[in-house]
Order: sequence, then C-alpha cells, then structure tokens
Amino acid sequence: MLLFTPGPTPVPESVRNAMATPTIHHRTPEFESIFKRAREALFKLFGTDEVVMLAATGTGAMESAVTNLCHHTLLNINAGKFGERFGKIAKAHGLGNEELVYEWDTPASVEEVLQKLKNNAQIDAVAIQISESAGGLRHPVEAIAAAIKAHNPEIMVIADGITAVGVEKIDVTHIDALIAGSQKALMLPPGLAIIGLSNAAIEKIGKGRGYYFNLATEIKKQRQNTTAWTAATTLVIGAEAILAEIEAQGGLDALIEKTARRARATQAALEAIGLHIYPKSPARSMTTVDDAQAKEIRSLLKKEYQINVAGGQDRLEGKIFRINQMGLIEDYEINWVVNAVELALAKLGRRAYDATATRVFNEVYFSL
Ligand SMILES: *Cc1c(COP(=O)(O)O)cnc(C)c1O
Repeated sequence: MLLFTPGPTPVPESVRNAMATPTIHHRTPEFESIFKRAREALFKLFGTDEVVMLAATGTGAMESAVTNLCHHTLLNINAGKFGERFGKIAKAHGLGNEELVYEWDTPASVEEVLQKLKNNAQIDAVAIQISESAGGLRHPVEAIAAAIKAHNPEIMVIADGITAVGVEKIDVTHIDALIAGSQKALMLPPGLAIIGLSNAAIEKIGKGRGYYFNLATEIKKQRQNTTAWTAATTLVIGAEAILAEIEAQGGLDALIEKTARRARATQAALEAIGLHIYPKSPARSMTTVDDAQAKEIRSLLKKEYQINVAGGQDRLEGKIFRINQMGLIEDYEINWVVNAVELALAKLGRRAYDATATRVFNEVYFSL
C-alpha cells in the first residue's frame, strides 16, 4: 500500500534503520553529539535565531508557542481545523481570543488581519497556518507577518509550518515562532515537534510560562545540547538521519524545487482529467480535490490500486481527497497515483481512460 496522506508520510528506509539502533541514555556525551548534529541541521532548515525540539506532536508546539508568546489576547486565523485549534488553545489557557474565520478554501487577507489589530489593542500575538492542511490551503503568511510588524513590531507572529517547513522556502524575517512536526514534511514517526524562534520571541518568552512547555527552560538546556526532560532519543536520531538523507539526495534546495514541480504537475494532471482543485490558493504540501464522488474515488484508490490518500474532516468529510506532496517521493510513485485517479474515474464511468493524467504529469514534471 502506498501511503499518500499528507501526514503521516512514509519514513525512508535509511531513517528507519537509524532508529532501529539500541536505545542509548539521553544524559550521555554520545546522545549529546547526536543532539548537536540534529540541532545544527535544524538551524539550517528553519533559518531562525533559535530552535527547540519538544517531545510532543505538533499540537504541543502550537500550545507552547501560544502560552509563551501570547500574554494577553491571541488573534487566530481560522480557515480550517488547525487554525481553529489555535483559538481553542488560547481559550483553554484563559487568554483573550479574537478569531478571523474564512471558508476552508479561502486565504486570509492582510487588510482584515490589520483591521482586527486596529480594533483590539490587546492582541499581542497572531497565529496562522502557513499551509492549512484541512483544505490544502496556502495563506499569504509572509505578507501578513510583514504587515503585522509594520503595524506593531511587539506583536508576536506564530506560524504553523507543520506542512510547510521542508516543503518550501519560508521567509522568516517577520516570523517569531515557526512550528514543525515530525510526521509530516520531515518524514518521521509522530512525536517530535520543533519550534524555530526569533530573538524578539526569546526576549518576550523571558522566564517562560507553564512547566513542561516552558520554552525558557528548553532554550537554556538545548543550547547545551541536552533537553529539560527526557529527550525523544529515537526521534532525535531519526531527525539527524532524515536531514542527512535530504543532504544525500541533493540537499534542501533540490527537495524544495522537486516538491514544487511535483505539486504543479499533479495539479495539472488532475485538472486535465476534469477534476477541480479545492483551495483558491493551493499549498505545495498536498493536492486537494473537491468532488461529489471523493469518497468513491478514495475507496477505489485503496481497494483497486493500493494507494492511501486522505479524505476531509468535519465539514469537508466525503467532499475532498488530499494527495500528499511532502517529502522524498519517488517519481514513479506519484506517477502511479495520478494514473490510478484516472483509472478510478474510468471505473466510475466518468471518462474513458486514455492516460491523459500520466502524460500531462510527465509533460509538466519533466518539462517535455
Ligand atoms: C498535523 C497538523 C497539526 C497537528 O499536529 P499533531 O501532530 O496532530 O498534533 C497542526 N497543524 C497542521 C497544519 C497540521 O497539518
């Protein structure tokens, strides 16, 4: 079965092998040197002033970013399940909360964010997804972050890059917290979250908030190549291994270029067989199709062609399917995926099979 869900993504063999080594103690020079190498590679990946690893899923990093960087009121951009989650986190911690709600296919507008900030001077942090995985939507985060900082540089910008870091180059100039999670673009099992931080964020964190997720405690320890609590040793070993594997396969820039090309080719192939791309501004992390027969297509992909793609959740349940584009994906695998979608449409009597999807994919992908 080919795993083509936008998280979890398949773990490469070299990384699985690295994680199969005997367990080592986390308070040892051996582990500290692994931690140091993973940390250095993450600095390169994030491009931020500081990087911390947390033994948590992505939501843990979202929570720690909110509690440490928002002291009054959080403005969250809700164009999907993950954007909504930031608001729930703020409320759970008794913080003030303002929300900008959008349809799940619609990117946030710079002007509407600014208007919210002008209407409520208590807002001291804004949280947004770079790629909102609920509908495969790309928000114009860089423009929004720049506008926020021009309005008031004290306002913290929290960017959830769980399906963006490692997918595309992110301009972190105006971002204070950039969040990633292991099981999406980083091709690792779930359980490790990473936050890149700006110096302004570190200043605001001060002594930190909370206990387990106190970022001041973590920053202090991780600068010494150790962690405040027991490190997720296996996943840190995996993080070092995957970042080394990306280097071995041509480096980060090559991965980003290939991902962009693959996303473009997949979209063109699916549009060529009459399918509709759901988001108005598609993220490169996944290709999201809205279709009345989304459920049937998914089920055929699984039963007949051994491909697992994701459906939709909540209001999009049964209405979309999402094909992963994150990670080190083989050309022949994604080629089989677009071909299988075309075969499924033929089985559903929607169009005669003529290999259009494969042809268009290859024309775009290889610039034929
Ligand atoms: C998956 C995901 C999360 C949540 O991560 P968990 O690891 O499930 O806690 C948050 N934001 C985005 C954009 C995601 O895709």
